[in-house]
Amino acid sequence: MSMPKIYRGRFAPSPTGPLHFGSLIAAVGSYLQAKHQQGEWLIRIDDIDPPREKKGAAIDILTTLEGFGFEWDSDVLYQSNKLQRYQEAVNDLIKQQLAYPCSCSKKSILKKTGQTEGEVVYPGFCRDKPLEKSPEYSIRLRCSSEHIHFDDTIQGKQAINLEKLKGDFVIQRRDHHFSYQLATGIDDAEQGITEVVRGADLLDCTACQLHVQRMLNLPSPHYCHLPVALNDAGQKLSKQSHATPIVTKNSVVLLYKALKFLGQKPPAHLMNANQEELWCWAKTHWRLDFVPKINPNIN
Ligand code: GLU
Repeated sequence: MSMPKIYRGRFAPSPTGPLHFGSLIAAVGSYLQAKHQQGEWLIRIDDIDPPREKKGAAIDILTTLEGFGFEWDSDVLYQSNKLQRYQEAVNDLIKQQLAYPCSCSKKSILKKTGQTEGEVVYPGFCRDKPLEKSPEYSIRLRCSSEHIHFDDTIQGKQAINLEKLKGDFVIQRRDHHFSYQLATGIDDAEQGITEVVRGADLLDCTACQLHVQRMLNLPSPHYCHLPVALNDAGQKLSKQSHATPIVTKNSVVLLYKALKFLGQKPPAHLMNANQEELWCWAKTHWRLDFVPKINPNIN
């Protein structure tokens, strides 16, 4: 008889700056979804993009999470320790002709396709070119026009046409760094994550990550995309939009606000409770069906 699979969730911040309220939402949502089901919750540091990283950010993020009372299971995984695995995967995909080197720059793609700035859809110019020796290329994963389907726990059924959305996408950049889609697709599968809970700004990325898993014959988790917190100007809270870092001394109020944002109904007196009481209430009373699909107005 096979053992029932234990729920395993994760939170995977990039060490590009301190945590803000937007990251707190993803941390709280993924944590409660795991802990309410007596599952495990892992932390992974997505440190595969050195040019964007900030020195000390990983430690700072872990210290903040600890200060907010999050407890994680097993050691933190740093993606920078898995570069060999990612390279193997890229080589494997090239060998099977599922991936190929591409010498096009973003500028040349825009020019050739007449697309304007923004997210570029790559129509596969280099798909059938012979493999060049030049180190000046990125590696792209072939995609097809078939829709990628998944049933998101909150956002419902999705059908994404990767060819229209992104085209053959980059798995290893010109500067040899591996892409977020490749590393995340591999790690979510290999860490045995059963459900990825994160912000809905990453909903489209799910199709790329499912495709990576499929091409590498890896299992896929379920996905659950939470509403995204916006600032007064309607922009997503992010390091780029200079979101205010969260600080431990305000943890109870911020956790309370995060619960409200996620549609939970914590009793008002918990706003002045201690952190342990608030977590105890939240783990017991977590209701995924209360979480709104899109960003609620909390003020
Ligand atoms: N590391 C990504 C970020 O901080 C999120 C990864 C994910 O949850 O898939 O935005």
